[in-house]
Amino acid sequence: MIRQNLKRMTTATCALILIVAAATFAQDSPSPYSQKKPIAIRAGKLIDGKSDAAIANALILIEDGKIVSVTPGGAPPAGVDLLDLSNSTVLPGLIDAHTHILLQGDVTEADYDVQLLKQSIPYRAILAARNAKIALDHGFTALRDLETEGAMYADVDVKTAINRGEVPGPHLFVSTRAMAPTGMYPLLGYSWELELPHGVQPVDGVEGARLAVREQLAHGADWIKYYSDHGYHYEADGILHSQVNFTDEEARAIVDEAHRLGHHVAAHAIGSDGIAAALRAGVDSVEHGDGLTDAEIDEIARRGIYWVPTVMVGAAVAPGRGGNWLKMVNTERDAFARALKKNVKIVFGTDVGGFAWTGMNETQEFHYYVEYGMTPMQAIRTATTSAAELLGWSDKIGSIEPGKLADMIAVNGDPLKDITTLDHVTFVMKEGVVYKNEK
Ligand SMILES: [Zn+2]
Repeated sequence: MIRQNLKRMTTATCALILIVAAATFAQDSPSPYSQKKPIAIRAGKLIDGKSDAAIANALILIEDGKIVSVTPGGAPPAGVDLLDLSNSTVLPGLIDAHTHILLQGDVTEADYDVQLLKQSIPYRAILAARNAKIALDHGFTALRDLETEGAMYADVDVKTAINRGEVPGPHLFVSTRAMAPTGMYPLLGYSWELELPHGVQPVDGVEGARLAVREQLAHGADWIKYYSDHGYHYEADGILHSQVNFTDEEARAIVDEAHRLGHHVAAHAIGSDGIAAALRAGVDSVEHGDGLTDAEIDEIARRGIYWVPTVMVGAAVAPGRGGNWLKMVNTERDAFARALKKNVKIVFGTDVGGFAWTGMNETQEFHYYVEYGMTPMQAIRTATTSAAELLGWSDKIGSIEPGKLADMIAVNGDPLKDITTLDHVTFVMKEGVVYKNEK
């Protein structure tokens, strides 16, 4: 017995040594995306995400990927490199709270279907890694990615590769497959003889809803997303209405199960009926929300529910889709003005992927917010402090202050005077690693 035990121990010890050796080897060849040297940044102007005005000539000290101090003026400690951004405005890394890294635009039904039918999930994941890099280049250091559109759990894989330093990309908060009941989300309209992929996980019944939440969380979902409505149309009351997808019992089961297990829920809801159903279900964020009525605006303001308007995608797809889509842009503009007056928590989201990643810069969403009545500072907050709050990461990102991750960007000029300066981000740092520095 003793001999046998000894032998087993020896085998176990050998295995352990191999694991330790492998780990040591991995440490000896770090990824270029995981080198975190102490560094100081001199910012000509600093918009820290919290202060009402920009701070001139700020010195930001960074160690081990985190912000150690922020002071007006001052010199870096001896031996610490200084990164001179004295001709730039430095801001917190931007957060886009509604993206689809696995989608390459779906203005038409055909655009969407071809991706699910003619592109493999591995191919789509390669494009998703590219898209993550595009987002980072545009200054977005965190994304909440709201479903893979038929690419199953590939968002979790992209997130893992980024977190391991294998590919560059923002922090990802992923929601995997999303949910809609049978027959209420593409692919639709094909011969019944065909077995087709689904743009979501089809979910039916209260038990089915709870099971789907558990499955998605088990496979790595951070957020749960479901589609509250479809079939958007105007009725005689002038209000944008919609067909509600889930029964109240089903929607409540999705939200309740996600909350019970410590996760938050985002609902796609465009028409007033879909929004009302999502509010009855108890969701944490309303996505799109074009048809928000006054009563719904009062309710989401009172309950502190986030609204992610995604103006860009509406404006981008309307000309190609025609019909009600053109009118919906104006309906949402009106809702935006009313929500702003009522202090609704508006969070920046573009729905990029719904339009091509390789076309417009996601920062155009800011232009709409300013055009629709926000000050540039309010617009910036939607993508920094407010978005961090939505993600439950207020202690890590969204502002430049001691203890936070060193996620920051820089632009030439002053975005508080001209919001379009955010369209050309010259410097990107995520967790103390410089990903872009054009100067
Ligand atoms: Zn979306």
